[in-house]
Amino acid sequence: MRTQVGIIGAGPAGLLLSRLLALRGIDSVVLENRSREYVEARIRAGILEQHTVDTLTDAGLGDRLRREGLEHRGIHLQHPGTRHTLDFPELCGRTVWVYGQTEVVKDLVAAQLAGGPPLLFEVSDVRPEDVDGDAPRIRFTDADGTPQVLECDVIAGTDGFHGVSRPVVTEAGGRLWERTYPYAWLGILADAAPATDELIYAWHPEGFALYSMRSPSVSRLYLQVDPADSIDNWSDDRIWDGLSRRLDIDGWTVSTGPVTEKSILPMRSFVSAPMRRGRLFLAGDAAHIVPPTGAKGLNLAVADVTLLATALTRLLREGRTDLVDAYSDTALRRVWRCTHFSWWMTSMLHTTGDDFDAELQLSQLRRVCSSEAAARELAENYTGLPIEG
Ligand SMILES: Cc1cc2nc3c(=O)[nH]c(=O)nc-3n(C[C@H](O)[C@H](O)[C@H](O)COP(=O)(O)OP(=O)(O)OC[C@H]3O[C@@H](n4cnc5c(N)ncnc54)[C@H](O)[C@@H]3O)c2cc1C
Repeated sequence: MRTQVGIIGAGPAGLLLSRLLALRGIDSVVLENRSREYVEARIRAGILEQHTVDTLTDAGLGDRLRREGLEHRGIHLQHPGTRHTLDFPELCGRTVWVYGQTEVVKDLVAAQLAGGPPLLFEVSDVRPEDVDGDAPRIRFTDADGTPQVLECDVIAGTDGFHGVSRPVVTEAGGRLWERTYPYAWLGILADAAPATDELIYAWHPEGFALYSMRSPSVSRLYLQVDPADSIDNWSDDRIWDGLSRRLDIDGWTVSTGPVTEKSILPMRSFVSAPMRRGRLFLAGDAAHIVPPTGAKGLNLAVADVTLLATALTRLLREGRTDLVDAYSDTALRRVWRCTHFSWWMTSMLHTTGDDFDAELQLSQLRRVCSSEAAARELAENYTGLPIEG
């Protein structure tokens, strides 16, 4: 087997990269170790920045997004007794969209299987090789158990945090930064019409709570919990009680309904640099992780592959290396901006049990809710900064 770009991982990063390359006449093959059903059902992110919506639309994937997605013009920031609305168009002229990552992935898979580049599910033993030379390859075993070799011009490692690509880059050197946080998110999906027009980010002495939604009839809610806690300790009643208390405001209630999914998500910041070794390029969660408070993970993956698609097209069509040589540094500038914003939102909203921290957090929240400059800084970062930054 031979292709121009061998892509490891069919998450949003790998699938979108393949699509963007195909639109520019570059071949690729996507290798995924899970099944199509598993990949399409994985509940993860749900907020799309403006640039992500624009990129998906330009790639011919905007129809269902614009039909079924929900455009959001701001967020509510809450601390006890106060719920303040940040109006994004007024502050920075941009909006965000609520459209689940599951739906983004379904749209990308459908486009790929409808005449797009090959997408192979349920492969195993995937290994990028000879990435320092001009003729790298990927060895893998296909779904029938047959060993295969995919000869490539370049390889994209879009295989997420636990993938095989990043270790190949880091064994040649580079640097890792990591911060684990002393809290986690307990997330639920519920068949309940959202009781709010915009997402509510709530600071509360018991811990952070987030009210978000996936559709007019499905709510997605989160509670700050201890990372060592077990989901078995959280009955549906206990979760709804916690959400009601932490999101409480006069004259308003959380709307409840059957819980269809619940899990605990640890929180970490992680950056691996460089995002390249020879002819192997990393993008998305393979190179960096952010805590979900800033809603950046999926958007960063889209930003990476937008840059990478342009750089690889220049390399493979014109033989020019300037953009691939700049790729890692350019992508990392945005990665660090989003890493800072995600850390900042996380630090402002999650209680630590320390009274001094609590007063600092409340002071910061009051500042964002009363100063247009402080609110604009949040709005610009939340809705997404330009891709080349
Ligand atoms: C549990 C969870 C919840 C999240 N919730 C939120 C949220 O609420 N808000 C938010 O903004 N972000 C959230 N994120 C982050 C966001 O979902 C990610 O940033 C996004 O999925 C990154 O896309 P990606 O394509 O880079 O990686 P991934 O989506 O991880 O895709 C990588 C793909 O590679 C495949 N793969 C892995 N190893 C191999 C291999 N060896 N061979 C072949 N294929 C392989 C995987 O199966 C997967 O399909 C969450 C992440 C997780 C893990």
